[in-house]
Amino acid sequence: MGTTLASVQFATFKDAIARRILSYPTIQAQDSSELDEFSSYLASESWSTLPDNIRNASYETRSSIPGDIEGIPLHTTPISFVDTLISYGFAIDHDHALQFLAKAVSDYIEDACAPPPIWSATRTKECQICEREVPLTYHHLIPRSTHAKVLKKKWHSEAVLNSVAWLCRPCHSAVHHVATNEELAREYYTVELLLEREDILKWRNYAAKQRFGVRRG
Ligand SMILES: [Zn+2]
Ligand SMILES: [Zn+2]
Repeated sequence: MGTTLASVQFATFKDAIARRILSYPTIQAQDSSELDEFSSYLASESWSTLPDNIRNASYETRSSIPGDIEGIPLHTTPISFVDTLISYGFAIDHDHALQFLAKAVSDYIEDACAPPPIWSATRTKECQICEREVPLTYHHLIPRSTHAKVLKKKWHSEAVLNSVAWLCRPCHSAVHHVATNEELAREYYTVELLLEREDILKWRNYAAKQRFGVRRG
């Protein structure tokens, strides 16, 4: 089981931190190497203090993970992590910094415990956001939970209802992180529209530089 800084789980955790940092509007699109360094630092400061079952989280071990983030003990989080978040303006105080971490851990668990991407053995095409050649998942550009409403309000015709984008797991998470299903259905129902979003562009610049360590399925 990989629990080192080189593990798949660590890379997944770092990506979760990067996405959370990107949700702050002050980050500029050209800052992708800074974002890389900063999320690496934050991830490595906090990783070793997370419980073993969290660091080993995977689809196979998902039943050993607490269902809500309140159950994750974060009281041993190093002060360097907290101070860094506060001094860079990502948290206003100690509690707020731990909230940031709890949300990042929760996002990480969701990704780490996700089922293996389907067709991972046969798909070799690039992710439509980061353009890396990695296992892909498919994203319903008009999320299925919105279909009834979409048809009722005539936002889209039935013909385009099932259009999909092929995205790697981290980019797929990034898309759902920046907008609700209804916003995706109404405003971001093509890859081109998604790529007009500043936060998705920032994410893409970051993700394109990450070595994809996940080998699942
Ligand atoms: Zn991608
Ligand atoms: Zn999706």
